[in-house]
Amino acid sequence: MKNKMLKFIDVQQETPEKRSTAKRKGDFSEIYKDYIINKATEQSSRCSQCGVPFCQIHCPLGNNIPDWLKLTAEGRLKEAYEVSQSTNNMPEVCGRICPQDRLCEGNCVIEQSGHGTVTIGSIEKYITDTAWEKGWVKPFKVKRELKQSIGIIGAGPAGMACAEELRKSGYQVTIYDRYDRPGGLLIYGIPNFKLEKYVVERRTKLLKETGIKFVQNFEIGKDQTLHELREKHDAILISTGVYKAREIDVPGNNLKNIFPAMEFLTASNKKGLGDKVKSFDDGTLNAEGKNVVVIGGGDTAMDCVRTSIRQKAKSVKCLYRRDRKNMPGSAREVENAIEEGVEFVWLTSPKRFIGEKKVEAIEINNMKLGEPDTSGRRKPEIELGSEYKIPADLVIKSLGFDPEELPKLFNAKELVVSKWGTIKIDLKTMQTNLDGVFAAGDIVRGASLVVWAIRDGRDVAAQIEKYLQLKISKNKSVKAA
Ligand SMILES: Cc1cc2nc3c(=O)[nH]c(=O)nc-3n(C[C@H](O)[C@H](O)[C@H](O)COP(=O)(O)OP(=O)(O)OC[C@H]3O[C@@H](n4cnc5c(N)ncnc54)[C@H](O)[C@@H]3O)c2cc1C
Ligand code: SF4
Repeated sequence: MKNKMLKFIDVQQETPEKRSTAKRKGDFSEIYKDYIINKATEQSSRCSQCGVPFCQIHCPLGNNIPDWLKLTAEGRLKEAYEVSQSTNNMPEVCGRICPQDRLCEGNCVIEQSGHGTVTIGSIEKYITDTAWEKGWVKPFKVKRELKQSIGIIGAGPAGMACAEELRKSGYQVTIYDRYDRPGGLLIYGIPNFKLEKYVVERRTKLLKETGIKFVQNFEIGKDQTLHELREKHDAILISTGVYKAREIDVPGNNLKNIFPAMEFLTASNKKGLGDKVKSFDDGTLNAEGKNVVVIGGGDTAMDCVRTSIRQKAKSVKCLYRRDRKNMPGSAREVENAIEEGVEFVWLTSPKRFIGEKKVEAIEINNMKLGEPDTSGRRKPEIELGSEYKIPADLVIKSLGFDPEELPKLFNAKELVVSKWGTIKIDLKTMQTNLDGVFAAGDIVRGASLVVWAIRDGRDVAAQIEKYLQLKISKNKSVKAA
């Protein structure tokens, strides 16, 4: 039994696929449960209640971490859940995918003293998963229905968090989204091995049960203009995220089998959700048996390399033009990818893609780090004469995202955007330059994190509510006069 336990503890720290294989090989479910409970309790009791909760300060939601750790350590899980969900609309999502090493856990006092951080994220996940399992997570009941309605464009975490907060106050909320499923990047961007899709689906189901309306396959700009939508609602939130993939300008870019990251990840996620995906089923977007090369060093690139490994690629390489220390992605993600067999080719950049009709190889340049640029990071420079070729059957470009041209797309040329294309808002009211039109999430910040999108969604809900209440009181005073 002890060996089995140890074996299970090992796989618990590995991939969900490996975990489920382990479960299939022997019935570890009870051991698994006990292990998780013991681990969560043990980890929770490690919190020193330090008095200066740096973890809480560095959590974008200001989660009351010391309190829910204490409650978990005392076995008072229901109360821990109540505290946890009071500041976070999706604790089970954040617990799974926040880059904790850069946020709460990276600032844990115990970590600073060299004793290893309290695993805050996994405890947050454990508390809420338990709450779902025990039936403590229920749709809230609206106490007083209000007439005013809000139209939200985009069913990602920013839009969903805002919708939930406004609905709690009794407003009528409709979320419009061009995808066929709600969730935004939670459903079609982030892979299943990091965030299981049922976790997102049960959240959206819960929101539907509170009376929030979801209108899928509805694109603002195509099915309705922004002005038409504004006419229908008392206020509008734009939370459309950022989706324009950055390009790489080298010869051969038009060869077949070179794809932007989102195309590859969406196909894989749709497949995982049980959809028929022609481009995957005919092998085009399936990495199986292929030499895959991913270009880029951010978290999306890590998702692509790790998805390729799971699709049984022949080899997976990641090209990044700086060194490991300067990678923008989470260090933990890079470690995971290396453990899973991804080969990182740091300080390299593609010179050209080679092939007849489809890509067959990439010629790459070695790079060196030069003087710091305006951002303070050392600028990568080509090492002349360093070219060499590597084989490639499938190339995935993951160079980041920019906002789409929203004023044009929405047929609202007067909507003011920044020089990067993100929507400009009044930082206090979160309102755009258009009356009653608010914006939040990645479309304001640029590509960011789920936890920030949730924070923005909560903040903008409070601002929308203020705006609507002011409107009512103005109307009353006009009538009284
Ligand atoms: C591959 C990938 C992996 C990531 N991994 C992580 C991670 O591990 N951890 C983390 O914290 N963050 C991660 N992120 C970032 C995170 O997903 C985003 O910061 C977050 O989802 C932004 O939320 P949002 O609500 O602003 O936008 P989104 O989640 O992008 O949602 C926007 C929604 O708006 C809809 N929409 C857009 N235009 C229109 C229109 N014209 N009409 C109707 N609907 C429209 C879209 O269909 C989408 O559903 C990742 C991002 C990517 C791309
Ligand atoms: S929301 Fe993210 S940063 Fe905040 S406590 Fe949870 S895992 Fe940490």
